[in-house]
Amino acid sequence: MAHNLRTVQQHVAQQVGSARFQRAKTFAVAKANGYGHGIEAAVRGFAAADGIAVIETEMLARLRELGWQKDLVLLEGFFEKADLEVLQSTGSITAIHCREQLDDLRSLPAGAALKVMLKMNTGMNRLGFRPEALPEVLTQLAQLQSQAKVSEVIMMMHFADADAFDRISLDHAWTRMREAVQQAELKQFRLEGLSVCNSAASLRYADDLFLDSYTNIIRPGICLYGASPMGNAENEATVDFNLKPAMTLKAQIIAIQQVNTGETVGYGSRFKAKEPTRIAIVACGYADGYPRWADASTPVVVNGIETTLAGRVSMDMMTINLNPVPSAHVGDWVTLWGEGGPTIDRVTECARMGSYETLCHLNQRVPKEII
Ligand SMILES: *Cc1c(COP(=O)(O)O)cnc(C)c1O
Repeated sequence: MAHNLRTVQQHVAQQVGSARFQRAKTFAVAKANGYGHGIEAAVRGFAAADGIAVIETEMLARLRELGWQKDLVLLEGFFEKADLEVLQSTGSITAIHCREQLDDLRSLPAGAALKVMLKMNTGMNRLGFRPEALPEVLTQLAQLQSQAKVSEVIMMMHFADADAFDRISLDHAWTRMREAVQQAELKQFRLEGLSVCNSAASLRYADDLFLDSYTNIIRPGICLYGASPMGNAENEATVDFNLKPAMTLKAQIIAIQQVNTGETVGYGSRFKAKEPTRIAIVACGYADGYPRWADASTPVVVNGIETTLAGRVSMDMMTINLNPVPSAHVGDWVTLWGEGGPTIDRVTECARMGSYETLCHLNQRVPKEII
């Protein structure tokens, strides 16, 4: 994770120029328990980031307990008024995406001075204020600032299509964002920073998405865990960008079956042996978070040799074809993704899923070792 953070920062620095990047910040996104990797791992791996961004209010205190002293961000802001106390006690930044949240800020004690990230809706139509609403929102924020309930304001947006083949939608959203920034300038409202780029935008377009009069804050997520925001389809983006898998998932062979030509394996009899086949039963299934719909082309690596699944993934086990690996024994480890195995992007593509949901579906029961 530390390697990926460094790599992504270097890549952005190369695009925007190192002097410009020196004035920029990186908020590493670690929602959903660090995309399934564990928040403890995130704190260690992202030590060089300027902030950690999450969704879950309870993570803020946890991150402080773990010793994180730099910026903390709630990406969807607070969910109820009680969260405001947590924001204050942990000194966190909160996103503000709707009027209700803005109204709730009034109940803060004067002097609370929360930092906020004002979320603009630039076309995703999920969270955020439409640019038309901005004049009124800025008036309210200025009032809250004069009462020392709000301190700094960072303007943020989130792309719907930064991973897309073309950049039409991204350019449209970015135009709306620049118009919003201009409106703030016209009102002489001071913005402390702009936060625009997720992983895909950081890796592909950072150069066009920095505005020099502001502190530009990138918010990479998935790429910091060594998976590609573009999936595996176009290219091996993880290779192009020199990202390393942060998570390696391994399981042991717990039994071996020798099946004859014409015999089948597993539920639905989906694998039918075309020749005598040695089948390994591996102790990992969809209850552990392995994608259930991984098809027959899904790669796994045994003793350094790549082979494929044989039959449907079950709850607690999967079956793999051992013919390419005659040396394999019960007790040998199979790498399902990560270092020494296939990339998670390749695996999830075979299941018509994405690395995002697969990483955060890793089950509690899987023993984790942080190294
Ligand atoms: C999840 C998230 C990110 C990170 O997105 P990636 O595609 O994983 O880089 C950035 N910003 C916001 C608001 C998010 O919710």
